[in-house]
Amino acid sequence: MMCDACGKPIKSGTGVGRAILCRTCFPDVLAEVERRREAGEPTDALTIARQIFRETHSAGSYLLRDIPEQLWITAKHRAVDEGLSLRELILKALQAYLNNTP
Ligand SMILES: [Zn+2]
Repeated sequence: MMCDACGKPIKSGTGVGRAILCRTCFPDVLAEVERRREAGEPTDALTIARQIFRETHSAGSYLLRDIPEQLWITAKHRAVDEGLSLRELILKALQAYLNNTP
């Protein structure tokens, strides 16, 4: 069998709802279930696991949840000021960060 969230083959997984998870993914999925429960959203573990799988294995795509509100507002204002789309601003910021990393 394999982990529903990362696709790694596993001898024995931990079952959460209908999902089978490896030890690495188990806490991640559980945290997401908890977050959704608090937000009043559906908490099907298999749906969440498959979503994590897609995000991990879709090259060049990444869905970022729960961006701190103030950071997001600041980013939106800056994008407007510079005449950039949010996508352009995010990619520019990421590139600048990577260029500066020692
Ligand atoms: Zn896994």
